Amino acid sequence: MKVYRGISVSKGIAIGKVYCYTQKLYKVEKRAVIDIAGELERLEEALLIAKAQLADLYEESLNSVGEVHALIFDIHKMMLEDDDFLDTIKKGIVSGYNAEYAVYEAGNTHEKIFLRMEDEYMRARAIDVKDITGRLLRILKGISETEIITDEPVIIFADELSPSETVKMDKSKVLALVTSKGAINSHAAILARSMNIPAVVCEGINITDNFRGKEVIVDGYSGEVLIEPDKESVLTAIKKRENEETEISSLRLLKGKENITCDGKKIDIYANIASVQEVNAALEADAGGIGLFRSEFLYLSRTDFPTEEEQFHCYKDVATKMQDKKVIIRTLDIGADKKAECLKMKPEDNPALGYRAIRICLDKPEILITQLRAIYRASAYGNIAVMFPMIVSLEEISRIKELIQYVKDALLKEEYKVGNVEVGIMIETPAAALISEELAKEVDFFSIGTNDLIQYTLAIDRQNEKMQHYFETLHPAVLKLISMTVINAHKQGIRVGICGELAADTTLTKTFLDMNVDELSVSPAEVLKLRRMVRSL
Ligand code: PEP
Ligand code: MG
Repeated sequence: MKVYRGISVSKGIAIGKVYCYTQKLYKVEKRAVIDIAGELERLEEALLIAKAQLADLYEESLNSVGEVHALIFDIHKMMLEDDDFLDTIKKGIVSGYNAEYAVYEAGNTHEKIFLRMEDEYMRARAIDVKDITGRLLRILKGISETEIITDEPVIIFADELSPSETVKMDKSKVLALVTSKGAINSHAAILARSMNIPAVVCEGINITDNFRGKEVIVDGYSGEVLIEPDKESVLTAIKKRENEETEISSLRLLKGKENITCDGKKIDIYANIASVQEVNAALEADAGGIGLFRSEFLYLSRTDFPTEEEQFHCYKDVATKMQDKKVIIRTLDIGADKKAECLKMKPEDNPALGYRAIRICLDKPEILITQLRAIYRASAYGNIAVMFPMIVSLEEISRIKELIQYVKDALLKEEYKVGNVEVGIMIETPAAALISEELAKEVDFFSIGTNDLIQYTLAIDRQNEKMQHYFETLHPAVLKLISMTVINAHKQGIRVGICGELAADTTLTKTFLDMNVDELSVSPAEVLKLRRMVRSL
């Protein structure tokens, strides 16, 4: 048995035989051409076919992975329309070479540009350039796409998978994915997660045909890949998978049940989501609402800002899917560990204490106004509330209220329908907790962000691995701030929830119930586990 340790990019356990997925190799010849116009025409035809294929792929993936993830194929289409990319290809042809060679060279150049980028997310986009270049080359050379031909479900071993290769895979035939390259943020990884396929990126594996047909275990929890596992490891993996299944079915029985303790105390359990796609998981987990919709994802994966229209559709989609259940949308919380290329932010010495979240939004109100317009327009389609991150002062709230009024007036003038949107803030700085009595008079609800509250109270960087043990036990200072916030909120008759990771810590559920916290918002996977804990108390 050989064990490789990689990074888990999608959870789950799989046992099965290896299928080595290799791209069809094709040589790209460098050929001098005289008929430049004819070659440019070939390119235009290939571009048209590629765009039609991507439109089909978008439609196909709408069902399998949902609208937000399907968007990658729309982005591929836009990349095929990118002036820089097209100019590089055309220059290659005009300088006297065949279309294949020009596409290949332009693809290489642009891939390198992405690979040199500082931002991890943007670096991962190199595979998208490779994906569209490969598509164009296949079309120009008349080669069909690589298919997985197998009768039984298999574990795919590949160097790297592009988004279109991942989404094209027949889910019933794929038990797990193991690649030697790829990032946790790559679209292939994101798609694997939304398709519920365990996946591991293992740089140590040199994917060769030698693995073909070998039995392996893929542990999408630990990131381990066991080649030709011994009997004991197989039994352990089977047991782990059985436990996973038993846990899932025992939790399933809690669906539709109340979040109520044995002595009748109730608490709301909501879900945290970071994409439209996750709404399904929240509904599946029977969450009472969305307690935190991290809207950053709309801004992270791109170099331009999302438009009002794009945001509106996304928020409307979530609100409609949740029907009359509450959806709390948190406005842009960018900065610190979340870098958005579109903001072109300069490096800072202390980014967690710097230009982030509401500070950016109040400094560049046009960003917040666009987002608020989208949120308020979407509010006509469901039960939407809006929440602002990183608040430290009453002045920020006054400014926010002015902007909200401005947006509402403008929308009503434009004859848009606007719902009744509750306005809340996150209590995630010690300053906000300490002045929560005053803040509570100004807003409709609080949501305590314990991730940042811990970071700022204890002066420990939440990104620093060496500091993680500080997060393991709850410091009384943090508990005091939470308790103070709850008391102050209730004094003013407003609701208070907890949406940081601490909400999912079942050793604290009783403490939070005793404090009279109104709502706990956790990742969809934790909702039913928390319900089980509440019902056991
Ligand atoms: C928090 O800080 O607890 C929180 C929920 O916000 P985020 O983790 O997105 O900063
Ligand atoms: Mg936070």
